[in-house]
Amino acid sequence: MQDHFGHRISYLRISITDRCNERCLYCMPRELQEWLPHSEVLTYAELARLVQIAASLGVTKIRVTGGEPLTRRNVLEFFRELSLIESITDIGISTNGTLLAKRSESGQTVAESLAELRVKHLNVSLDTLDQETYAMITGRDALPETLRGLEAGKCAGFAQIRLNSVLIRGKNEEGLGDLVRFAREQGFLLRFIELMPVTTADVLSDENFFPIAEARRNLEAEFGPLVSEPDFHTNGPALYYRFKDHSQRIGFIGAMTNLHFCDSCNKLRLTCDGKLRPCLGSHLEFDIKEPLRAGASDDELRRLFLDVVDRKPQQHDFRFNYQPGRKMVAIGG
Ligand code: SAM
Ligand code: SF4
Repeated sequence: MQDHFGHRISYLRISITDRCNERCLYCMPRELQEWLPHSEVLTYAELARLVQIAASLGVTKIRVTGGEPLTRRNVLEFFRELSLIESITDIGISTNGTLLAKRSESGQTVAESLAELRVKHLNVSLDTLDQETYAMITGRDALPETLRGLEAGKCAGFAQIRLNSVLIRGKNEEGLGDLVRFAREQGFLLRFIELMPVTTADVLSDENFFPIAEARRNLEAEFGPLVSEPDFHTNGPALYYRFKDHSQRIGFIGAMTNLHFCDSCNKLRLTCDGKLRPCLGSHLEFDIKEPLRAGASDDELRRLFLDVVDRKPQQHDFRFNYQPGRKMVAIGG
């Protein structure tokens, strides 16, 4: 699949639930805390069929996200189904980490089960190492669980665990150095993300916004110069740097200030309520649940994927585009 701007689409991010055991202030606005009814959410069988169809169109990478994907019942069954789709060579999960250390009856941790089910990339959200700040940002006092989850991820043998930290002025601003030191000690790949205006305007005010350039300057003042690594890429739009005096690499995801953010976009998104979205930062979304439930053939669904790719914008329009009423939890960050 290729769009009009030469983006080759090989990556599908799937939100499997809008539910979450945390309440991050940038993701889940206080006034929008109603869950979708179960009937609105795609079943695992429906999700797996759509992944098969995407795979037949050249998608090789899947990231499972949410909401908190690990809160969905029997989620490991879904990963088992994904693991059976051979042409999907790269499976990842984005999680807040709180449930990774949980053990099943067999005694295995969730992290171990995921590793066994071909999950390669584990992305864990961690905005701060300060327990109070963590509770203030996420609405839950769950830093110890997240840290245990990260430990479980390491024990499960994930080659590289990525930490994602959203930058919020005046909230985690002072703790970035601690995150750098922690990632260094633990061998995690730390990435800082600019706050995106996906939910309500008040959370995402100019006062809360903390640009990556400033975070980089602050880190340089503390740890010495950072040198750009333009040839290092992961699957997304992060720009990577290495410290001049240390091999540690840090990623910066400048959704708002990097004007080339969309240049190499290879993604489509599927929301938990069955909408295909060509771009996170655009209002465009196309319902695939209704045709799916009305008995559309694989070919008809393939056509829908291709139509959505055709409508993929050249770049996001976050800068002019708040999306009141559409929660990040439902879209899947
Ligand atoms: N619950 C999982 C987690 O927290 O990683 C997966 C879903 S969450 C929506 C995925 C990512 O989106 C997280 O790294 C989160 O920090 C990020 N995110 C959520 N809302 C955001 C916003 N308004 N701006 C920037 N990143 C956001
Ligand atoms: Fe939940 Fe993740 Fe959103 Fe936080 S960022 S509320 S953990 S879905």
